[in-house]
Amino acid sequence: MYEIAKHEGRYDGAAYRGCHPPRLTCSRSIFRIQALSLEEPNRATKPPKVGAVLVRDGQCLGECYRGQTGDGDHAEYGLLEKVLAGVDVSGSTLYTTLEPCSKRMPPRVPCAERVANRGISTVWIGAYDPDPRIQRFGWAILKRQGVARRDFPRDLRAEVAADNAIFIDSFRVGHGDSGTARFDYRLNDGRFLVADTRAGVFETRWTSCSSDCIYAYDAAHLVAHPRGADCFHDVDDPSAYEFASYSLPVREGELVIFRNEGGYLLVRVDDVQDGGRTDDRWELTISWEVRRSVPAEDEP
Ligand SMILES: [Zn+2]
Repeated sequence: MYEIAKHEGRYDGAAYRGCHPPRLTCSRSIFRIQALSLEEPNRATKPPKVGAVLVRDGQCLGECYRGQTGDGDHAEYGLLEKVLAGVDVSGSTLYTTLEPCSKRMPPRVPCAERVANRGISTVWIGAYDPDPRIQRFGWAILKRQGVARRDFPRDLRAEVAADNAIFIDSFRVGHGDSGTARFDYRLNDGRFLVADTRAGVFETRWTSCSSDCIYAYDAAHLVAHPRGADCFHDVDDPSAYEFASYSLPVREGELVIFRNEGGYLLVRVDDVQDGGRTDDRWELTISWEVRRSVPAEDEP
């Protein structure tokens, strides 16, 4: 997967319009940070994997991966504040596998702000953060501060995404017979999957309604609205409800029921952010409970 020769062979000498520095340098640096990001300790339990490399005039000024300089240290933070503390990095180009963060608990400073404050002129981004609290906000800070922003080439983005599949999937798939999730319902075609070991996969789908309401969709299985229910205990037998609509508006605090061949998925809409005047993102927070339709005598 990480054959540097492959990338160099593919890009060496190729003119890449508008790309500064040349694509060869880009691919070499990306290869390096991918290798770095894989070195991150506890990567299976602490996603995402992130690597960052700073380059100027063809020279590598420094490199860092997430967690290298301290537990949970962001790659860009470690690179700028520890590896290259006090070093003039103005005019350099940053390659990072994940969009720099846009929000940190004060007094900590978001990495996107740090990058701009240090005079870095260009940032190459391997993936936009799937977390709806961050997604494109880091990019927006860089834009506002006059930092040029580039995307990794498509094939290298695919490699970054594969390396971070666990992290990305955590915003697309929930596991277990109960749980909570928060995701951007404009991404992934509005879909969020819930996978239960015995009932199988439920596909929930959502689209914008208002600042405190969202449309729940399932054209194949239809959805049901247990009117007046505000907790899972309020639903005794989900098959008692009429599944008559492919789409229903669900307000914050209300429930909607999805179903598949293996059972029912009760979903409570906990919070809706609709990107309007008061919300700055398109974020849905839900909790769920699976009710299997397996007959009681077949339960272990
Ligand atoms: Zn950060």
